[in-house]
Amino acid sequence: MPVAVEMGRLTSPIVVERGSIVNRVRDTMPTMTTGAQEPQADPSQSPASAAALPMPLLADGCRQLGLALTPAQEAQFARYYALLVEWNERLNLTTITAPTDVQVKHYLDSLVALPLIAEELGVQLPIMKPLRVADVGTGAGFPGVPLKIAAPALALTLMDGTQKKIAFLEAIVATLGLQNVTLVHGRAEELGRAETQRERYDVVVARAVAPLNVLAEYVLPLVRVGGLAVAYKGPSAPQEFIDARKAIATLGGEAVRLAPVTVPHLDERRYILLIKKVKASPSQYPRGQGLARKKPL
Ligand code: SAH
Repeated sequence: MPVAVEMGRLTSPIVVERGSIVNRVRDTMPTMTTGAQEPQADPSQSPASAAALPMPLLADGCRQLGLALTPAQEAQFARYYALLVEWNERLNLTTITAPTDVQVKHYLDSLVALPLIAEELGVQLPIMKPLRVADVGTGAGFPGVPLKIAAPALALTLMDGTQKKIAFLEAIVATLGLQNVTLVHGRAEELGRAETQRERYDVVVARAVAPLNVLAEYVLPLVRVGGLAVAYKGPSAPQEFIDARKAIATLGGEAVRLAPVTVPHLDERRYILLIKKVKASPSQYPRGQGLARKKPL
């Protein structure tokens, strides 16, 4: 089956705004939570003792992706792992908990898009620009938190419809000392209509949230004209893309690249779909009442 679909590329680079994004951490957005709901974990007390846990697959995989990690960044990934496993006992955040699996299926799988995003935006690695990146349906923080650890200059907004996920993410942000991260509790189809969120982001990423024809209506309204939506997909990507072409065009998007990617140390097929926002999304989108999912465009 021909699955390696590499589509035509844009000739002009996307212009990245250079607005001064200063300390949006814990800003005043009404949808944002203001304090962790649960006591914060002390990673030094955790059985999977935080900073000491070696992450050889992650370190090697990052080198393969051209993303060299400093010891401090590796320690942040290790802390993240310790908290993920600890909170997972209560919150059911993920079924992937073995250290090797988390390094590959969560961390490297999240990071695999970073070189593609940089290339499409015409920026160098390591990314030094405070690109505004939103992660829709981030769950336990994927792919947004690994992107932020690997590229600390990013101004990251993590969005999820479930409050308990946001509580976990608050602990992550505090414990890892991440700067310039905003947490938003809300549904994508509502946030896409909110003035503070609509067409505000340079890049909107999403992994494992919805089929592409539904996901397009969640993510594209949040992307500024000229920015990128980035969908992390598995083997069904080519068919999902065919089914979503109308939705993408209706929402002002234009697919620029469906890239088959190799996640280091993972023998599974993955795709990254890059969609450029070429015109504003019509005001009737996203639709409410679950219509994006019930009646995909
Ligand atoms: N992106 C993460 C989590 C995937 S699970 C990962 O790849 O591991 C899907 C997540 O999306 C859940 O946390 C769920 O709460 C959230 N979600 C699903 N539909 C959503 C919507 N319409 N708006 C906001 N969050 C949504």
